[in-house]
Amino acid sequence: MKSIVTLVGRPNVGKSTIFNKLTKTDNAIVADIPGYTRDCQQGVCNFEEKSFFVVDTAGLFFKDDELSNISELNTFESIKESDLLLFIVDAEEGLVSSDIEIASNLRKIHKKIYLVVNKIDKTQKEFSQGEFSELGFKDMSLVSAKNGSGIKDVLRKIYSDIKEEKNSSNDNERLDLAILGKPNVGKSTLVNSLIGKEKQITQNKPGTTRDCIKLPISKYGYDFNIVDTPGIRKKSKTKEHIEIIGVIKTLKTIEASDVVIILIDSIDGITDQDLSLISRVMELGKPALIGLNKTDAIDDYEEHTLGYGIDTKLKFINYIPIYKISALKSMGLKKLVSSAVNIFKQSKQSINTSLLNKLVQDAVFKHQPPAYAGRRIKIRYVHQGGNNPIRLVIHGTYVDKLSKDYLRYLSNYIRRKIDLTGITMFFELKNKFEK
Ligand code: GDP
Repeated sequence: MKSIVTLVGRPNVGKSTIFNKLTKTDNAIVADIPGYTRDCQQGVCNFEEKSFFVVDTAGLFFKDDELSNISELNTFESIKESDLLLFIVDAEEGLVSSDIEIASNLRKIHKKIYLVVNKIDKTQKEFSQGEFSELGFKDMSLVSAKNGSGIKDVLRKIYSDIKEEKNSSNDNERLDLAILGKPNVGKSTLVNSLIGKEKQITQNKPGTTRDCIKLPISKYGYDFNIVDTPGIRKKSKTKEHIEIIGVIKTLKTIEASDVVIILIDSIDGITDQDLSLISRVMELGKPALIGLNKTDAIDDYEEHTLGYGIDTKLKFINYIPIYKISALKSMGLKKLVSSAVNIFKQSKQSINTSLLNKLVQDAVFKHQPPAYAGRRIKIRYVHQGGNNPIRLVIHGTYVDKLSKDYLRYLSNYIRRKIDLTGITMFFELKNKFEK
C-alpha cells in the first residue's frame, strides 16, 4: 500500500494548486464526471523512486460554515488514516488565529506534520519565516505553488517518510473484490448472500489492523476474495447506526482491490453520494461495475426515475456496466460476479500497439483535434504505458493541449474495437521533445 499524504489547512491557502503540482493533474485523465465537483480530490505523486497518494481536503475540512458532527468525525478519521500531513499556510495573508488552532488540533493526532508556507512569491522570505516560526514547527518549507518553486524541496524532505511500496498489483489469478456504496445500500446483505448463511459476518471488531482483511469466497464456480470494507460488517450498536467511512478508508479499500462493485440503492436513484464514490473509483483508475440493488422493491415510478438518472448522470461513464440485482433475494448476483471476473481478466491485458495506433489514426482522420491557439496538434504515436490502471501514452506535437473532450472521443473510439468494459483509461501526453 502506498503512503498517504494529506493536505490540510484553512480554505484558500492554495491546497488545490499544491495538489495539482504534486499530482501533475494537468497531464490528463478522462476520468471525471463533467459538471460534478468532488468534495475531496485524490491522486498519485511520483517522485524519484517512490510514489504515494495525495489527498486534497479542500472543501472537506475546516469549512467556514458550522461543521456537523458527522463531518467533524469524518475529518478526524480521515486525518488519522493518513501517513503524514502537509499543513499549508498562506504567506500573503500571514499567520492568522485559525492556523494556530488547526496546528494545535493536528498535533493531538500524533502524526508527522510538515509545515508548508505557500505564496512565498508574494512576500519576503525572511519575514514569513519569522512569522510562521511562532507555530513551533522545527522546520518549514517555503513554496510558491503557482510557479512551482520549493515543491521539490518539500518532496525531498518527506522522501524518507514515504514507504517503499511493495508491489501491490495482484499477480495471482484470484480476484480481490471490494463492495462499496453509501450506508444502507445493502453491502453487508450482498456479502452475506455471497458468503452463505453458515459464515455470516457479525460484529465490527475494534482495533482493526492497518491492512485490509480479505474474505475468501467460492460461488457460481468462481473463487475470489471480498476485501473487507468498513461498512460491510454489521454496525456496532452505538448511535443510530451512523456509518463513518472517511475518504481515506475508502481510498485504501479501493487500492487493496482489483475490481470494485459500486452499489446504488434503486429506491433512492442516483444520488450525489453515489457520484462522489464513482468519481473516486475512477480517479484511481480502478476497474468497476455498478450494481443497482433492491430492484425487488421498486415501483414503476422509482424505476422510471432510476432510468432517467442513469441516462443523464451516468452517460459519461457508459463503459462501466450496470446490473440490476437484489442482494436480499440473491437475484442477478451470478451475472454480477461473472462480470467482475471478466473485468479483472481484461484489466490485465496488453493492448496491441499497432491496433492501438491504427485506431487512433482512424479517429484522427475522422475528426482532427482542434488547433490550440492557432497551432496544429499532431499525434504521432501511442502505446500502452502500463495497466492497473490502464495508461496510454500519446506522443506528438502539442499533444499536452488535447482537450478533455477530444481525449474522451479518442477513448470512446478505442473502446469500439478493444473491450475495456469497466476500465477507466488514463492518458499521458508527451510532447515531441520530452522524454
Ligand atoms: P449496508 O449498510 O450497505 O451494509 O446495508 P445493509 O446490508 O445493512 O442493508 C440495509 C437495509 O437494506 C437492510 O434492512 C437490508 O435488509 C435492506 N436490503 C439490502 N439489500 C436489499 C435488497 O436487495 N432488497 C431489499 N428490498 N432490501 C435490501
